[in-house]
Amino acid sequence: MKPQIDVVLGDITTQHVDVIVNAANPSLMGGGGVDGAIHRAAGPQLLEACKIVRQQQGELAPGHAVITIAGDLPAKAVIHAVGPIWEGGEHHEARSLEDAYLNCLRLAAANGYKTIAFPAISTGVYGFPKAAAAAIAVATVSDYLTRKPLPERVYFVCYDEENARLYQRLLTQRGQEL
Ligand code: ADP
Repeated sequence: MKPQIDVVLGDITTQHVDVIVNAANPSLMGGGGVDGAIHRAAGPQLLEACKIVRQQQGELAPGHAVITIAGDLPAKAVIHAVGPIWEGGEHHEARSLEDAYLNCLRLAAANGYKTIAFPAISTGVYGFPKAAAAAIAVATVSDYLTRKPLPERVYFVCYDEENARLYQRLLTQRGQEL
Protein backbone atom coordinates (compact mmCIF):
# COMPACT_ATOMS: atom_id res chain seq x y z
CA MET A 1 0.00 0.00 0.00
CA LYS A 2 1.17 3.53 -0.73
CA PRO A 3 2.23 5.44 2.36
CA GLN A 4 -0.33 8.04 3.36
CA ILE A 5 1.52 11.33 3.56
CA ASP A 6 0.10 14.84 3.29
CA VAL A 7 1.64 18.28 3.25
CA VAL A 8 -0.20 20.98 5.18
CA LEU A 9 0.67 24.68 5.09
CA GLY A 10 -0.16 26.01 8.54
CA ASP A 11 0.22 25.88 12.29
CA ILE A 12 0.94 22.50 13.86
CA THR A 13 -0.80 23.44 17.12
CA THR A 14 -4.23 23.38 15.44
CA GLN A 15 -3.87 19.94 13.84
CA HIS A 16 -6.46 17.34 14.82
CA VAL A 17 -4.20 14.31 14.83
CA ASP A 18 -3.26 11.75 17.47
CA VAL A 19 0.25 13.13 17.98
CA ILE A 20 2.06 16.32 17.10
CA VAL A 21 5.83 16.48 17.12
CA ASN A 22 7.66 19.34 18.80
CA ALA A 23 11.09 20.45 17.59
CA ALA A 24 12.31 20.66 21.17
CA ASN A 25 15.62 21.69 22.64
CA PRO A 26 17.65 19.29 24.81
CA SER A 27 16.46 20.87 28.07
CA LEU A 28 12.76 20.34 27.22
CA MET A 29 12.15 23.63 28.99
CA GLY A 30 10.51 25.37 26.07
CA GLY A 31 11.95 27.84 23.62
CA GLY A 32 11.02 29.89 20.58
CA GLY A 33 9.69 28.83 17.20
CA VAL A 34 7.41 25.84 17.06
CA ASP A 35 8.37 24.86 20.63
CA GLY A 36 7.08 28.18 21.97
CA ALA A 37 3.89 27.94 19.91
CA ILE A 38 3.19 24.41 21.18
CA HIS A 39 3.74 25.35 24.83
CA ARG A 40 1.55 28.46 24.49
CA ALA A 41 -1.28 26.46 22.93
CA ALA A 42 -0.95 23.47 25.27
CA GLY A 43 -0.86 25.50 28.50
CA PRO A 44 1.25 25.07 31.65
CA GLN A 45 0.46 21.36 32.04
CA LEU A 46 2.81 20.63 29.16
CA LEU A 47 5.78 22.34 30.79
CA GLU A 48 5.03 20.44 34.01
CA ALA A 49 5.06 17.15 32.08
CA CYS A 50 8.33 18.12 30.40
CA LYS A 51 9.90 18.97 33.76
CA ILE A 52 9.08 15.49 35.06
CA VAL A 53 10.62 13.84 32.00
CA ARG A 54 13.65 16.08 32.36
CA GLN A 55 14.05 15.10 36.03
CA GLN A 56 13.83 11.42 35.12
CA GLN A 57 15.96 11.40 31.98
CA GLY A 58 18.09 14.52 31.99
CA GLU A 59 18.81 16.39 28.79
CA LEU A 60 17.92 14.77 25.49
CA ALA A 61 20.66 14.16 22.95
CA PRO A 62 20.10 15.12 19.31
CA GLY A 63 18.07 12.47 17.49
CA HIS A 64 16.21 11.42 20.63
CA ALA A 65 12.51 11.85 21.42
CA VAL A 66 10.10 11.54 24.36
CA ILE A 67 6.30 11.52 24.59
CA THR A 68 4.07 13.56 26.92
CA ILE A 69 0.47 14.61 27.36
CA ALA A 70 -0.84 17.31 25.04
CA GLY A 71 -2.50 19.65 27.58
CA ASP A 72 -5.06 21.88 25.85
CA LEU A 73 -4.00 20.93 22.31
CA PRO A 74 -6.44 19.08 20.05
CA ALA A 75 -3.86 16.27 19.72
CA LYS A 76 -3.77 13.38 22.21
CA ALA A 77 -0.02 13.52 22.83
CA VAL A 78 3.12 15.48 22.01
CA ILE A 79 6.40 13.88 20.99
CA HIS A 80 9.34 16.13 21.77
CA ALA A 81 12.19 15.42 19.37
CA VAL A 82 15.57 17.10 19.46
CA GLY A 83 16.98 17.76 16.02
CA PRO A 84 20.63 18.46 15.30
CA ILE A 85 22.08 21.95 15.17
CA TRP A 86 23.53 22.49 11.69
CA GLU A 87 27.30 22.80 11.94
CA GLY A 88 28.19 22.55 8.26
CA GLY A 89 27.10 18.98 7.59
CA GLU A 90 30.19 17.09 8.76
CA HIS A 91 28.96 16.43 12.30
CA HIS A 92 26.46 13.60 11.69
CA GLU A 93 23.64 16.11 11.29
CA ALA A 94 21.88 14.07 8.59
CA ARG A 95 21.99 10.87 10.62
CA SER A 96 20.79 12.66 13.70
CA LEU A 97 17.85 14.24 11.84
CA GLU A 98 16.89 10.83 10.43
CA ASP A 99 17.04 9.37 13.96
CA ALA A 100 14.76 12.15 15.24
CA TYR A 101 12.09 11.27 12.64
CA LEU A 102 12.49 7.52 13.21
CA ASN A 103 12.27 7.80 16.99
CA CYS A 104 9.07 9.84 16.69
CA LEU A 105 7.49 7.25 14.40
CA ARG A 106 8.52 4.42 16.74
CA LEU A 107 7.15 6.21 19.80
CA ALA A 108 3.84 6.94 18.06
CA ALA A 109 3.57 3.28 17.01
CA ALA A 110 4.49 2.00 20.48
CA ASN A 111 1.63 4.06 21.90
CA GLY A 112 -0.86 2.84 19.29
CA TYR A 113 -1.26 6.19 17.54
CA LYS A 114 -2.40 6.26 13.93
CA THR A 115 -1.90 9.86 12.85
CA ILE A 116 1.10 12.11 13.45
CA ALA A 117 2.04 15.62 12.37
CA PHE A 118 5.66 16.74 12.00
CA PRO A 119 7.10 20.25 11.78
CA ALA A 120 10.24 20.75 9.68
CA ILE A 121 12.58 19.78 12.53
CA SER A 122 15.88 21.74 12.73
CA THR A 123 15.05 24.11 9.85
CA GLY A 124 14.44 27.16 12.04
CA VAL A 125 16.87 28.36 14.69
CA TYR A 126 18.92 25.15 14.31
CA GLY A 127 19.78 26.17 10.75
CA PHE A 128 19.57 22.86 8.84
CA PRO A 129 19.24 23.68 5.11
CA LYS A 130 15.58 23.30 4.25
CA ALA A 131 15.92 21.27 1.04
CA ALA A 132 18.27 18.74 2.63
CA ALA A 133 16.11 18.47 5.75
CA ALA A 134 12.94 17.94 3.67
CA ALA A 135 14.66 15.20 1.65
CA ILE A 136 15.65 13.38 4.85
CA ALA A 137 12.18 13.79 6.36
CA VAL A 138 10.37 12.48 3.27
CA ALA A 139 12.74 9.56 2.65
CA THR A 140 12.79 8.46 6.31
CA VAL A 141 9.02 8.67 6.78
CA SER A 142 8.15 7.08 3.41
CA ASP A 143 10.49 4.16 3.96
CA TYR A 144 9.21 3.62 7.48
CA LEU A 145 5.54 3.66 6.42
CA THR A 146 6.10 1.06 3.72
CA ARG A 147 7.51 -1.33 6.35
CA LYS A 148 5.33 -0.74 9.44
CA PRO A 149 1.58 -0.65 10.08
CA LEU A 150 1.60 2.26 12.55
CA PRO A 151 1.32 5.18 12.27
CA GLU A 152 -1.01 5.00 9.27
CA ARG A 153 -0.93 8.60 8.22
CA VAL A 154 1.70 11.34 8.44
CA TYR A 155 1.23 15.08 7.96
CA PHE A 156 4.17 17.36 7.24
CA VAL A 157 3.00 20.69 8.62
CA CYS A 158 4.96 23.49 6.95
CA TYR A 159 4.87 26.96 8.41
CA ASP A 160 6.28 28.61 5.32
CA GLU A 161 5.58 28.20 1.63
CA GLU A 162 9.18 27.35 0.78
CA ASN A 163 9.04 24.23 2.95
CA ALA A 164 5.57 23.31 1.65
CA ARG A 165 6.81 23.51 -1.95
CA LEU A 166 9.91 21.43 -1.13
CA TYR A 167 7.89 18.69 0.56
CA GLN A 168 5.27 18.64 -2.18
CA ARG A 169 7.90 18.31 -4.89
CA LEU A 170 9.68 15.48 -3.07
CA LEU A 171 6.46 13.54 -2.51
CA THR A 172 5.40 13.99 -6.12
CA GLN A 173 8.80 12.69 -7.24
CA ARG A 174 8.26 9.61 -5.09
CA GLY A 175 4.86 9.06 -6.66
CA GLN A 176 3.05 9.81 -3.44
CA GLU A 177 0.72 12.44 -4.81
CA LEU A 178 -1.17 14.50 -2.31
P1 ADP B 1 14.59 24.14 15.35
O1 ADP B 1 15.23 24.68 16.60
O2 ADP B 1 14.46 22.63 15.37
O3 ADP B 1 15.18 24.68 14.12
P2 ADP B 1 12.30 25.96 15.10
O4 ADP B 1 11.08 25.99 15.95
O5 ADP B 1 13.20 27.16 15.14
O6 ADP B 1 13.06 24.61 15.50
O7 ADP B 1 11.89 25.70 13.60
C1 ADP B 1 11.49 24.47 13.07
C2 ADP B 1 10.47 24.70 11.97
O8 ADP B 1 9.19 24.92 12.56
C3 ADP B 1 10.76 25.91 11.10
O9 ADP B 1 10.62 25.54 9.72
C4 ADP B 1 9.68 26.91 11.50
O10 ADP B 1 9.30 27.74 10.42
C5 ADP B 1 8.56 25.97 11.87
N1 ADP B 1 7.49 26.50 12.74
C6 ADP B 1 7.52 27.56 13.58
N2 ADP B 1 6.33 27.70 14.19
C7 ADP B 1 5.52 26.72 13.72
C8 ADP B 1 4.17 26.32 13.95
N3 ADP B 1 3.37 26.98 14.81
N4 ADP B 1 3.68 25.24 13.27
C9 ADP B 1 4.47 24.55 12.41
N5 ADP B 1 5.75 24.86 12.16
C10 ADP B 1 6.27 25.93 12.80
